[in-house]
Amino acid sequence: MSRYRLSPTPVQEAALAEHCGHARFVWNLAVEQHSYWKPGRKSAPGFAEQCRQLTEARLEFEWLRNGSIIVQQQALKDFAQAMANFFGTTHRKPTWRKRGRGDGFRIVAVKPGDVRRLSRHVGEVRVPKVGWVRFRWSRAVSGDVKSYRITRDAAGRWHVAFAAVPESIPAPGTGEVVGVDRGVTVSAALSTGGVETVPGLREGEKDRLLRLLRKLARAQRGSNRRGRVKAAVARLKARESDRRKDWVEKTSTRLARAFDVIGVEDLKILDMARSARGTLEMPGTNVRQKAGLNRGVLAAGWGRLVTRLEQKAPGRVVKVSPRFTSQICNACGNRAPENRESQAVFRCRACGHQANADVNAARNIRDIAAGRAVNARGGDPVAGPVNREPQLVLLSG
Ligand SMILES: [Zn+2]
Repeated sequence: MSRYRLSPTPVQEAALAEHCGHARFVWNLAVEQHSYWKPGRKSAPGFAEQCRQLTEARLEFEWLRNGSIIVQQQALKDFAQAMANFFGTTHRKPTWRKRGRGDGFRIVAVKPGDVRRLSRHVGEVRVPKVGWVRFRWSRAVSGDVKSYRITRDAAGRWHVAFAAVPESIPAPGTGEVVGVDRGVTVSAALSTGGVETVPGLREGEKDRLLRLLRKLARAQRGSNRRGRVKAAVARLKARESDRRKDWVEKTSTRLARAFDVIGVEDLKILDMARSARGTLEMPGTNVRQKAGLNRGVLAAGWGRLVTRLEQKAPGRVVKVSPRFTSQICNACGNRAPENRESQAVFRCRACGHQANADVNAARNIRDIAAGRAVNARGGDPVAGPVNREPQLVLLSG
């Protein structure tokens, strides 16, 4: 996904805003339907039923009928995805959308000719019911665009983000397995011993963001000042997310190229396991707030990394329960909470093995993934980890 600055004419801008309005209307309708649902009642309508209702609503309301069905259906699809995320406990429950907040819509079934380059720095994209809208060709656009999303940020700027499913990368065929652990002290640890930090905001930028957020809390609603502060916050967050996305693309490509099987923690049960690891204690000012900012970056970067890995290395990603991976000694298999001496250090109480805590966890993930990959191929399971009772717990978890 890469984002480009859109430059619609005033007429086009009005039409884009109308699409946003339709998407918001349909989304809010879905939120309302689901808010009636209480445990014990018949389940709230799913995506298929909502699409049927949308067809009826379009027959009834001309203004809705005049809008794009793709925009409206995709809003329902986004909602269905948001509910799935909510039930998967990775996200909060979807809520009402207000005008001017998170405005946007998605177009799917994009044809090859729908995105084209006009000159060195200008491209255009065909938007249903709006026509060709120009955008700044700030970097290459994938020739394989399947869908795109158009958004308006808090500062009123329009962007288009093209989504092309990245091409799968052939496995190296070496039989090598890697485990990746989403660390606390480092962002991602590899079983090879490498530790990586997802790039986010620099220290000075984080301080600035916190200052801006405090200003925002004090600024009067609807004031010019508030608008300016909001725009500045949006710019900083965009910078952070660009850096994170860049890292995800590079890292996923590198792993898909170098390893046959990639073991990762299963996101769905990750946070429960994570809270059991205890809290990070660090002195200094702003540390708590900064830790909060970091957590957000980590969570978003991690989900994206796993998605990209599954696209670039289809069938080669093994999701592993993260339970106990931080407590088991990778050298002898001993499992004890005390083995994790601190956030950073793992020291086995049984055999004395010492390692970076996240790297030790990544190695456990690698071993479980290797065991599963062997079993899935019907090969000799002895090639996987052996004589480790806790593994059974891990596999069933
Ligand atoms: Zn040990």
